[in-house]
Amino acid sequence: MAKKTIRDIDVKGKKVLVRVDFNVPIQDGEITDDNRIIQALPTIRHIIENGGRAILFSHLGRIKTEADLAKNSLDQVAKRLSEHIKQPVIFISETRGKALEEAVNKLQDGQILMFENTRFEDLDGKKESKNDPELGAYWASLGDVFVNDAFGTAHREHASNVGIANHIKETVAGFLIEKEINILGGALEHPKRPFIAILGGAKVSDKIGVIRNLLEIADQILVSGGMAYTFFKAKGYEIGTSLLEADKLPLAQELLTIGKDKIVMGPDLVTSKAFAPDAEKFIRPVTAIPVDEMGMDAGPETIEKFTQIIIDAKTVFWNGPVGVFEFPKFAEGTRSIAEALANIKESATTIIGGGDSAAAVIQFGLADQMTHISTGGGASLEYLEGKKLPGIECITEK
Ligand code: ADP
Ligand code: MG
Repeated sequence: MAKKTIRDIDVKGKKVLVRVDFNVPIQDGEITDDNRIIQALPTIRHIIENGGRAILFSHLGRIKTEADLAKNSLDQVAKRLSEHIKQPVIFISETRGKALEEAVNKLQDGQILMFENTRFEDLDGKKESKNDPELGAYWASLGDVFVNDAFGTAHREHASNVGIANHIKETVAGFLIEKEINILGGALEHPKRPFIAILGGAKVSDKIGVIRNLLEIADQILVSGGMAYTFFKAKGYEIGTSLLEADKLPLAQELLTIGKDKIVMGPDLVTSKAFAPDAEKFIRPVTAIPVDEMGMDAGPETIEKFTQIIIDAKTVFWNGPVGVFEFPKFAEGTRSIAEALANIKESATTIIGGGDSAAAVIQFGLADQMTHISTGGGASLEYLEGKKLPGIECITEK
């Protein structure tokens, strides 16, 4: 990586500002998946073991009204971090002010402090999300050096990443950003071949940029999930009541033409008459979808065809479930793809990008068998589209 990393600096005795991505899913007040906390541990450990003073911060959820504050406090995230890192985490429930400044100044070598959700600053004029320069300068003033390790936010230009970088002498990448770039960038720049991309999920419009870029790089692109129906329609098939983005039909046609040797779809699918967990399911050829049925999952022959291609791959990038995996009845396709990735040769690189795809792999208990589950949904997609990410651009060059 051409960017400076945490390995390139001496943190001893320094106040090290660390932007982590602790935007974890919370349901009924409970953290339901702490992968992002775990992925941040190597950077935090490196700082405290080398005598640095770690000052951590992150956003969590969206803050629009006063009512959003209590449910998006980072205090329980600080507790969870403390359990994982097995040492106290001093939590300051402010994003600025005297209490925070005093706590920062009292911090000893090897200690960890975390301050409150950076988006609490959005309540009063979106200061964090609009990269208010005064806010970036203020946070920068709290530390000696800045470590950006929030890959999940790297596609955003916020005060807590770019803003701080603009006002501090040196910004370096943490181990997580380094790992994400090495793995995702490695797949883009010199993939072991065959390189297979599996693209699914709900909307074509979310994935256009990725499809375009991967058409140039991947050997084959397996298209399925909700977005496949716009492609089937573009091929002239009847798609019943399946998801359709009618305004994307010309684009789907164009991509099918450019990618005619690379895009793999069908031949069958699982349908139902209603979008419901207990709906009766039917298996149909993609060329014969009844008008009153919708596509809910990839069919058995499609899965078999995809699996055969996946088995021989050396690099696989997967974004987007191939069916409505939230309904167990329609999760078989997505589960089979996850299993195919898990069973692939050990030397192959398997990369999961996308929040829902990652959730599916974790739900099936197969997370450990993947090479890498990206912590960035939007960020990994934009990276694979070939875009420059502001949160990475702002890191000091080597
Ligand atoms: P990711 O977060 O991995 O990028 P997306 O957000 O693009 O994935 O898409 C995930 C959603 O796509 C899931 O909620 C899933 O239910 C939905 N989906 C997949 N296949 C279908 C389908 N055939 N019909 C409707 N929704 C689908
Ligand atoms: Mg999603």
